Amino acid sequence: MRKIPIAVLGCTGLVGQQFIRMLIHHPYFEIAALTASAKAKGKNYCDVADQTQDTSFPSSIHDQKLIETSVDAVIRSGAKVVFSALPAHIAEVIEKPLAAKGIFVFSNARTNRMEPDVPILIPEVNPEHLQIVARRASEKKGFIITNSNCSATGLVIALKPLMDFGIRSIITSTYQAISGAGRKGLSAFEITGNVIPFIENEEEKIEEETAKIFGKWINGRFKPAKIEINVSCCRVPVLDGHLATVIVELEREIDLDILKESIHSFRGIPQDLTLPTAPEIPIIVREEKNRPQPALDVNAGSPERAKGMAISLGRLRKKGRRINFVFLVHNTIRGAAGTCILNAEFAYSRGLLKNSVRHIYSKRRAT
Ligand code: NAP
Repeated sequence: MRKIPIAVLGCTGLVGQQFIRMLIHHPYFEIAALTASAKAKGKNYCDVADQTQDTSFPSSIHDQKLIETSVDAVIRSGAKVVFSALPAHIAEVIEKPLAAKGIFVFSNARTNRMEPDVPILIPEVNPEHLQIVARRASEKKGFIITNSNCSATGLVIALKPLMDFGIRSIITSTYQAISGAGRKGLSAFEITGNVIPFIENEEEKIEEETAKIFGKWINGRFKPAKIEINVSCCRVPVLDGHLATVIVELEREIDLDILKESIHSFRGIPQDLTLPTAPEIPIIVREEKNRPQPALDVNAGSPERAKGMAISLGRLRKKGRRINFVFLVHNTIRGAAGTCILNAEFAYSRGLLKNSVRHIYSKRRAT
């Protein structure tokens, strides 16, 4: 099988580096191009990214020269699929123009998430939203698929098995890791021994993205779900892993064992399809009183390729119709690069990236 050439935009950032780690030896994709800011252009990857100290990186990546983050440079590289880990203001000027040129863009940036023709896809939760871009793909046009804000990803996966019981309202408080703010996000002075009870735009993003993800695609437009959701976000001195406490009010009282079994046995389409980056069990239920913890559980998930792709959920309790729990999501893996790659694998499994395979064949035949 020929692999699809891909580009990672913003490859030196925390999400970009996770992309590269997860795409090495990927069964469907091969890295054709890496981009970062102008100062990195022409440099070897190993000279600009810190995680390359890991000796498991092949020399082809260590020594790969970075190209500029521009539409022309990406097209010239031969990449047909793009994984974007760019800051929002740079994604704004490059993602739509790339899609307009026939590129399939899978993005972490918030820029296009709320656009009417762009799904926020979490394949275990709203796989039906893939249809929004299916027509463009069949017409051989490019498209943009985004994944959600990192905390929203953990939240919607945790809520999915409860949706059948009817959810009235959600109250959630997050304890978010410093890696969520990017490689140059916070100074040690700001965060060491401290908690910051504000993250710009985070609460709004979690609220509106959750409603879009659980919403319906009717007559060519999104109808957001009517879920009452109230969010508070804090930054805490943890390296990786966003923890959140959640209180869900259900339509009616349900036995705790039934709820636990629904969460424990939950599987989605990526598990049925055994997609390469899908965790075998998407929600790991912890029975211990003091779990999940970022230090112990952030890399939950198996097989090896899916480490960090499972969320962990614990402290499940109930009071009447209200249930409480805690979840933990790896923000740069499940909350970013990992779900983005899973989205591309899902699109591939549904034949939406076929055009890019034909593109490679015709290019190779022509040379
Ligand atoms: P980051 O560590 O700050 O990395 C940003 C990347 O963008 C770097 O490769 C940087 O290159 C590049 N870049 C910056 N300015 C650029 C420019 N003018 N032109 C081209 N490239 C430029 O950020 P991150 O945490 O990886 O996040 C990346 C994106 O994912 C953001 O949109 C973020 O909101 C989103 N996201 C992040 C997380 C998370 O947990 N961190 C989770 C979900 C979504 P240089 O190294 O050359 O500056």
